[in-house]
Amino acid sequence: MQKDNMNKPTAILIATGNSHKTEEIRDILGGNYVVDDLVGKDFPKVNETGTTFLDNATLKAVEISKLTDQWVLSDDSGLEVDTLGGAPGVYSSRYAGDEGNDSANNAKLLAELAKRPKDNNRSARFRCVIVLAKNGERQAHFSGAVEGCITDSLSGDAGFGYDPLFIPDGHDQTFAQLPSTTKNQLSHRSRALEAALPWITENL
Ligand code: IMP
Repeated sequence: MQKDNMNKPTAILIATGNSHKTEEIRDILGGNYVVDDLVGKDFPKVNETGTTFLDNATLKAVEISKLTDQWVLSDDSGLEVDTLGGAPGVYSSRYAGDEGNDSANNAKLLAELAKRPKDNNRSARFRCVIVLAKNGERQAHFSGAVEGCITDSLSGDAGFGYDPLFIPDGHDQTFAQLPSTTKNQLSHRSRALEAALPWITENL
């Protein structure tokens, strides 16, 4: 266990209500930290008013860290589809209108791509920016991305969000079909966390 003093493992509060993200972060960090999130706790919702992943990750981590003594880690992430000019991007979770409505978002993405010529390039990437904050101040930030393409129809039940439509490069199944261990080895989130780990080990 990583220690924040002689007796206690280091606790990290993930500034999210999305338990899928928390689960992935917990798996990627490998049990060395006590990882918790905002689910069922009395924290206010932080409005994601930024125009970049870094802006929104900073807003979430800094605002939540004003309300706790713990280290706070935020993840702002999304899907960029090249033929859609990088959409849905920072609006990934509310692409179809309602926040976090994965099936509506996936349906809208397929509808937008169906308007493009049949042989159109469907290249895309997931991006993730992670911010670490303490006592209302951003302390560090890291990013990661995974390249891939968007399929014609939904496949697989695992994961969340756009996972049933995204095939990572080098594979022929979507993130929702691949084992979670595979997703967690190559995802945007794991790459951002890999970049963050030396800093986390040194500073938390
Ligand atoms: P956030 O909570 O504002 O960062 O929104 C992230 C949104 O991006 C999610 O609601 C999903 O739509 C999408 N997203 C981010 N990471 C993933 C992933 O690992 N798989 C599938 N969709 C993701």
